[in-house]
Amino acid sequence: MRWSNYYLFTTREVPKDAEVISHRLMIRAGMIKKLAAGIYTTLPFGSRSMTKLATIVRRELDAKNALELTMPTIQPAELWQESGRWQAYGKELLRVNDRNGREFCYAPTAEEVITDMVRKDIRSYKQLPVNLYQIQTKFRDEIRPRFGLMRGREFLMKDAYSFHADAESLDVTYRDMHDAYCAIFAACGLDYKVVEADTGNIGGSDSHEFMVLAQTGESDIVSCDCGYAANTEKAVTGALPAPEVELGEMEEVATPDQKSIAEVSQFLGKSADQFVKTLLYTSENEEVVVVCIRGDREINEIKLANALDVQYPVLATDAQVQEITGAPVGFAGPVGLKEARLIVDPSAAALESFVCGANKDDAHLVNVQWGRDVEKGEVIDLLLADAGDPCPRCGDTMQKTRGIETGHIFKLGCKYSEAMGCNFLDAEGRDEPMIMGCYGLGIGRTVAAAIEQNHDDDGIIWPKPLAPFTVLLMALDPQNEEVSAAADQLYGELQAKGIDVLYDDRKERPGVKFKDADLIGIPVRAVIGKRGLSDGKIEISERHDREKHLVDVGEALAKLVELAG
Ligand code: ATP
Ligand code: MG
Repeated sequence: MRWSNYYLFTTREVPKDAEVISHRLMIRAGMIKKLAAGIYTTLPFGSRSMTKLATIVRRELDAKNALELTMPTIQPAELWQESGRWQAYGKELLRVNDRNGREFCYAPTAEEVITDMVRKDIRSYKQLPVNLYQIQTKFRDEIRPRFGLMRGREFLMKDAYSFHADAESLDVTYRDMHDAYCAIFAACGLDYKVVEADTGNIGGSDSHEFMVLAQTGESDIVSCDCGYAANTEKAVTGALPAPEVELGEMEEVATPDQKSIAEVSQFLGKSADQFVKTLLYTSENEEVVVVCIRGDREINEIKLANALDVQYPVLATDAQVQEITGAPVGFAGPVGLKEARLIVDPSAAALESFVCGANKDDAHLVNVQWGRDVEKGEVIDLLLADAGDPCPRCGDTMQKTRGIETGHIFKLGCKYSEAMGCNFLDAEGRDEPMIMGCYGLGIGRTVAAAIEQNHDDDGIIWPKPLAPFTVLLMALDPQNEEVSAAADQLYGELQAKGIDVLYDDRKERPGVKFKDADLIGIPVRAVIGKRGLSDGKIEISERHDREKHLVDVGEALAKLVELAG
């Protein structure tokens, strides 16, 4: 491709809302253009990268016998009402009406549509399993669209759905998809981690996320050298080391104006890990739940949501706290709270003796013991895992890293097939719901994540498999006939070898060309200039180290083919 004929306009201007580097670089390198919040045009240069990823995705999924299809992006409301998600999906679902007032939505995902299709086509266990995928646009009316393609409202996703007669068959396909995803991210040249993920309200079954490691990722991951790795939304830990405590009789102490754990801990000269922190939440039915955790730790609200079987737990209002505890916020404790359900995290349950609020203004209790002074309630893991916590598998210390969730695989079970009557006849002639799996992978998000992981101050450093072009051929001073003749010739030869080459034949100053070259980050670069050419040399370098090698004109093609490989 000749740049002079191409649609690639780099820019120095970065919009204010571009917070992360991939977003800035994708705009500056002319890959995407914003149309509205979270809605972007992918320009030709960006499209090439997305297409390369899609090709890798298709290759690896086809190798596992997954079959490509294309489903509509506009879906009838009736299907979503059948599954129960018309209500449950909430505001992320973009609802539209047709001219007759019929309700539809724009696909945020396609479980309903595919389940509807399969229930009409498949009757017998003999036709199972099937694994179907598409690479198709999705729309989710994200509350905070940001980071460009990373969290857009309209975005391209590969989504796959599998249907099975039994759990063992799902296990096989789930493993296949897991392996295919590993192959995809490895083939992209990305540093990634597979982590255990929360399964949300569906509960019980397996789920894994594929995280491209990057500091700007929105997900926290804890992991151990033994192989355990989990999203902190889901991560469990071994038992935390217990603090040393003194034992004694429970006693009320005055703590005037000392509300936070940090304040009271300093005031009483006791470390925060000797405290029980008590928080009050309300679930959707307004029932107040009292939750205790060790004073130095945080509650994982996803675990709490699962424990309460609600979508989001909400902290109780000050008035509710006052009503239940009889004290203002800051002095709650489990002792003497009769009415409410009490859930205690193991970190708090393990304390032999602790400090907590006295449910009285300006007072705390010290030397409190479970069993003796207060009933423990239900012990349920609600801990937000952190760096330094013991691994649940081997007990070693875990690390915390950040990642970008680019893929998510999930054992769905019978959630949709039961709700929508997607049944089959088993070998004994019984009517059974099919068992399902689903498998998502963000195309745009993965390309953005690749940039997030591979860049420097001057621009993108494409991993070769996702680079829009593999070789950038630069003619310095293309008005010079000798230069343009040599560059034209090399361009033709590279094309003949099937190499993706972008030929910078623009009549721009060398400074502009070099700056652009660094910005757009094509992995291999060949520079043809008057001076070098008069010595019979072409300068070849790679974007990642920019080390220059002068190569004889006659050897340039072979060298470029080698580097492009
Ligand atoms: P997140 O927690 O980041 O919102 P999700 O759990 O909603 O993601 P899934 O429903 O599992 O995502 O979707 C599958 C894949 O689609 C994700 O792994 C991600 O790569 C991609 N994806 C999801 N939401 C977006 C978005 N708003 N913009 C771009 N890609 C997205
Ligand atoms: Mg989401």
